[in-house]
Amino acid sequence: MPTFESISALQAAIHSGSTSCRDMVEYYIAQIEKNKALNAYVEVWAEEALQQADKLDRKFRENPASVGRLFGVVLSIKDNICYAGHQVTAASKILEGFRSLYSATAVERLLAEDAILIGRTNCDQFGMGSTNENSVYGPVHNAADPERVPGGSSGGAAVSVQTDTCTAALGSDTGGSVRQPAGFCGIWGFKPTYGRISRHGLLAYGSSFDQIGVLARHPADIALLLDIMQGPDEFDSTAPEIKKQAALIGNSRSRRIAYFPQTIDNESVDAGVRSVTRAYIDGLVAAGHQVDPVGFDLLDYIIPTYYVLTTAEASSNLSRYDGIRYGYRSPDARNLEETYVLSRSTGFSEEVKRRILLGTFVLSSGYYDAYYTKAQQARRLIRDRIREIFRDYDFILLPVAPSVAGRFGEKSEDPVAMYLSDIYTVLANLAGIPAIAMPAGKHPENGMPVGVQLMADMWREEDLLQFAGA
Ligand code: GLN
Repeated sequence: MPTFESISALQAAIHSGSTSCRDMVEYYIAQIEKNKALNAYVEVWAEEALQQADKLDRKFRENPASVGRLFGVVLSIKDNICYAGHQVTAASKILEGFRSLYSATAVERLLAEDAILIGRTNCDQFGMGSTNENSVYGPVHNAADPERVPGGSSGGAAVSVQTDTCTAALGSDTGGSVRQPAGFCGIWGFKPTYGRISRHGLLAYGSSFDQIGVLARHPADIALLLDIMQGPDEFDSTAPEIKKQAALIGNSRSRRIAYFPQTIDNESVDAGVRSVTRAYIDGLVAAGHQVDPVGFDLLDYIIPTYYVLTTAEASSNLSRYDGIRYGYRSPDARNLEETYVLSRSTGFSEEVKRRILLGTFVLSSGYYDAYYTKAQQARRLIRDRIREIFRDYDFILLPVAPSVAGRFGEKSEDPVAMYLSDIYTVLANLAGIPAIAMPAGKHPENGMPVGVQLMADMWREEDLLQFAGA
């Protein structure tokens, strides 16, 4: 059981004198030690976090009103988010030993509100994967059943929250990497509207899909962190001025929710996931909400569209890792050409290389129109259809994934099976809309967590988070 249910409960305890920043950091460090075998962290900044805690406790003693909105909050960050002076590797050998010169805008804003960063978490290399098995640091284990994967790519982030080693975690979500591991680990995972949080300082995978997201134990914590991180940034032109929704709408208002029956009833969906999702829908109906089956003909195009476009973007983004500018350089190279070839061949994992090759192929002049242009058109159709649904509905409900967390090796042997399992999460990134994964229950047979997702129209996250919380 976590020590505190939410950030506000934690802060109330500090204000009442029953705990302190130092107590919290010491507790979290002990939790990290206790859960070490799960391999969630690739580096722990224990000394630094303790020093920061003492500094903040002093600041609070001197003037309680002077502390920031994240006073007492201890965060983990995924190993693809930059923190000045600290290593960041995207769980890849190619960035071995690399230290960031600056902090991500999101990180800077959190630190400015007195958050403490406790360490960086394991993930799939460059965010590519759905099981966290594709990491140079080895796999992460799910605390609900250590024989099973935690999901990915932010598997370490999910387990860091699941095992109460931090108050909340930052991850990144290109096609579900925050929501799917959150679902697999029984916590909350959220990705905002594309552009709501600056991507400056997030190592790029698919730039038109990537967003920093939050994994937490309470939706109110997500809302607070979002509020602090969001907004325009001179380093990211895709992060515009946000017109926040005025007043939050009352929790009890009856809402209109759409779902796509084939995402629940298809025979490839695990029976336990189906029954939990159905029960969740029944609960919404019983609470007075209107929940309707809605047609969505484009489901078959989601995965091909996502993987054509993200691999294309990745092949371009990852060209900067050339053995010259960052991290690892092959010691065997005798000339420039060999420096590129050997550094990249040994620095990147098989999965990353597969995607660079696929992306290079779909962008090549002979195939550009057949694949890349086609996929752009498909993305537009998907986005238009989704936004059309939001003319009639407040939210779309989907499972997080067709199954619960699997065992090691189950999917990693078969890349296509792995890609297909992302079907319900990548939709939000294709459409650029916000989405949240919420704990919905336990699988009736194996007891693993089952999550349900809610998506809302662009920029409607206040509404989404408040409804999800209620
Ligand atoms: N599993 C998906 C992929 O491998 C999503 C990854 C992500 O969101 N970073 O692309």
